[in-house]
Amino acid sequence: MTQYIPVTTCRDCGLLQQIRYMPDDGAVKCCRCDAILHKRQRIALAKSIEHTLALVITALILLIISNVYPIIQVDAEGHEMAATLFDCVKYLFTNEMKLLAGLVFLTTIGAPLIQLTGLLYILLPVNFNRIPPYAPKIYRVVRIITSWSMLEVLMLGILVSVVKLSALATVVPSIALWTFALLMIFIAAILSDLDTEMLWEQISPKIQKMELDKLKLGTQLTNCHNCHLLCTLSAEHDSYCSRCSAAIHFRKPNSLTRCTALVIAAMVMYIPANLLPVMMVTSLGKTEGDTIISGVIYLATNGDLPLAIILFIASICVPTIKLIILSLLLITVHFKSQWRPKERTYLYRLTEFIGRWSMVDIFVDTLMATLVQVSGLMVIEVGVGAVAFGVVVVLTMFAAMAFDPRLIWDNMEVVNE
Ligand SMILES: [Zn+2]
Ligand SMILES: [Zn+2]
Repeated sequence: MTQYIPVTTCRDCGLLQQIRYMPDDGAVKCCRCDAILHKRQRIALAKSIEHTLALVITALILLIISNVYPIIQVDAEGHEMAATLFDCVKYLFTNEMKLLAGLVFLTTIGAPLIQLTGLLYILLPVNFNRIPPYAPKIYRVVRIITSWSMLEVLMLGILVSVVKLSALATVVPSIALWTFALLMIFIAAILSDLDTEMLWEQISPKIQKMELDKLKLGTQLTNCHNCHLLCTLSAEHDSYCSRCSAAIHFRKPNSLTRCTALVIAAMVMYIPANLLPVMMVTSLGKTEGDTIISGVIYLATNGDLPLAIILFIASICVPTIKLIILSLLLITVHFKSQWRPKERTYLYRLTEFIGRWSMVDIFVDTLMATLVQVSGLMVIEVGVGAVAFGVVVVLTMFAAMAFDPRLIWDNMEVVNE
């Protein structure tokens, strides 16, 4: 029988390497770019599944409570107002901002709901040693949707809104505020608790380990981008992962072209996002528009410096830095630069990590507009700038997904050969 030697390609630099020692508890990093190749948790499989399942069920209950009860209650001049998260989505939808409504719904309700119900569907039978139908395909969807769940960003948005609203009215945090905070902690715990590699092996036990010595010379090997299974690529036809059915590519197809187009589109949309008002405030018959920058300046000059700094970083620094980094990566790859590949890979990982935080401003504007509707006294509306800003966030997220960091390293190999 062929002895199985764990071989893998790095997801960030593409290097094919052998794992000589796999610790029971810990991670193995790529020898070239420091990306994590394999990660194992100490807890035994049965205990790990049971543990994660308990967290998933609790998180689902918290998600339901968080959406049934209002997040914040506001008392302005005797007018009491309260809003659930769904009220915010409904507000945007009825105010001709369907795109933004869809984005807020996906990132705060849809994605966590799909993520948690998907995990429940898989983990509950697995806990009783059964494999539910279509488990690998469903787990693939769960892994894709996870990057769109932005509860931690929403939480920051809620806190910023509470501080901003307390200047206008009496703000009473409602039950959903606490359950949202708990839900955010539980989802983070689920993500760190779940041993994804162990779960993949559990839900697809029939997958054969690749017998490397039987492969033809020159066979292209790459790991599935979704489930990390090592697969062979065919030159003649499209290849699909035998475990999760995702399309397999040696490099993401048309990565540079797609990423360039998305970055240019995001740069174009960045102009109206900053020039048009993101929030319209009507007070005593007078309407004033607030752009992102004027909102930050207003907070800074009115004594809310910490809040101004948070919004400045999330809404101005993050999108700008992300666009600069992506442009730098595109230009250096296009000109086949060999300049600091490891650092450029770190920059790429940074764009994946920071991008979501720009959503804070959209959550703040939506919450404030939904809550402050005192006719005759004060009305807050979401401005068109917020829609443009939402488009920038989505475009930059897609651009980062379209970019293939392995292209940075391909240029290194060309000259070294
Ligand atoms: Zn690597
Ligand atoms: Zn796969």
